[in-house]
Amino acid sequence: MSDLSDLYQELILDHNKRPRNWGTLEGGNREAKGHNPLCGDRLTVFLKLADDRIEDIRFEGSGCAISKASASLMTEAVKGRTISEVNGIFQRFQAMITSPLDQPSGDASLGKLMVLGGVREFPVRIKCASLPWHTLKAAIAASPTVAVTE
Ligand code: ZN
Repeated sequence: MSDLSDLYQELILDHNKRPRNWGTLEGGNREAKGHNPLCGDRLTVFLKLADDRIEDIRFEGSGCAISKASASLMTEAVKGRTISEVNGIFQRFQAMITSPLDQPSGDASLGKLMVLGGVREFPVRIKCASLPWHTLKAAIAASPTVAVTE
C-alpha cells in the first residue's frame, strides 16, 4: 500500500511542478476565479465551451501543491467531455475525497484522479483538492465572455 502512496505522491508532485494545460486560453468563452481562504489558493479556469462540451481548458494561479495538482489532473480529466459527464466525474471525485476513512476511497472510473484520494485523511486539504472543481462549475455557469487578448 505504501508503494501505491509513493506513486500517488510522485504524480501529485509532478503535476504540481509541471501543471498540464497551464495558462490562458485563446478563443475561450468562459472563465471563473476560485479562492480558498483557508490555504490561500487562488486560481482561474478558462474554458472553451461548444455544444455543451468542453473543447478546451486552461488554468493558472498560485496555491499549494494539492490545489495545483488537482487542477492539472482535472483539466486532463474533463477535456473533451460533456457538461453532464463532467458533473458525474465531479460527484464521484467529491465522494472520494470526503469518504469515511474506513471505506474504500473512489472507484476506478476516476482514473488518475484517484491519486488525490489520500486528501480525505487531511480535512484541511479537502478544500484545496475541490477548489478547481468548484471553479470549473462556476466557469461553466458563467455568462459567455469575450476572449481576452493577452
Ligand atoms: Zn491549498
